[in-house]
Amino acid sequence: MSQPKIKVKQQDAATLAAGYSKTFRVVEIASIIIFWALSLALAVKVSVHFSAHPVLILAAVFFGYVAADFVSGLVHWLGDTWGSTDMPILGAALIRPFREHHVDEKAITRHDYIETNGANCMISVPVAAMALFVPIEPASNAYWLQLFGVTSMGAMIFWVMLTNQIHKWSHMDTPPALVGLLQRWHVILPVKHHQVHHTAPFEKYYCITCGWLNWPLTKIGFYRHAERLITAVTGALPRRDDIGIDAALAIAPGSSEPAAPTLPVTKAS
Ligand SMILES: [Zn+2]
Ligand SMILES: [Zn+2]
Repeated sequence: MSQPKIKVKQQDAATLAAGYSKTFRVVEIASIIIFWALSLALAVKVSVHFSAHPVLILAAVFFGYVAADFVSGLVHWLGDTWGSTDMPILGAALIRPFREHHVDEKAITRHDYIETNGANCMISVPVAAMALFVPIEPASNAYWLQLFGVTSMGAMIFWVMLTNQIHKWSHMDTPPALVGLLQRWHVILPVKHHQVHHTAPFEKYYCITCGWLNWPLTKIGFYRHAERLITAVTGALPRRDDIGIDAALAIAPGSSEPAAPTLPVTKAS
């Protein structure tokens, strides 16, 4: 039986790039300043307990790293799969960069510090504020839990904040030497590993911090189960705005059409 002819129909790269507004840039700058201020306060809050519980704190930092990989995959999947660039506020500010990244994956390497890191700082600010409110009291029965919880939340948002920088490095032709080493050791997102996601129809390997969770999440069909659930509740078709209705219908979970692993890509204007 022959593979169906499915064409991925994406949006115009120049139009998508032009959607980066000055207003959103101001929001990004404010988010970066608030994020660093809250993170510094969190680091001070945790550091006074380090000499007493170094292993617990280092374990929480590691847990935060893996949790950040999961969050990066979840947010990336949400941005790639649902909504459209026409939506008010969210469309231009948050969904547009995901569409742009699929039609021009090198654009991220031309983004400055603010455009690369602003959005991730913005989503991290509420979590940092929450973590600052949680008490860490050595006299409390819940002391270890408080220390682990606050440290892992702080570490998670730190790694979430670094995620798009790591993602940017994975698209650079010549990243800094130390970064290249960390990529090859799979401490941070390796180049070849991330290219699995950049193969049309862009429906797997969403995690972009270290990518360690990509294989297990693919194996259990995590995103396909979530898509079935969301489609059942809302009726929305996953990836419709990203790859066009024909390709989205053909590869939607539960579709009678077999999914083509690599689809020809055409650019719409
Ligand atoms: Zn993507
Ligand atoms: Zn990428």
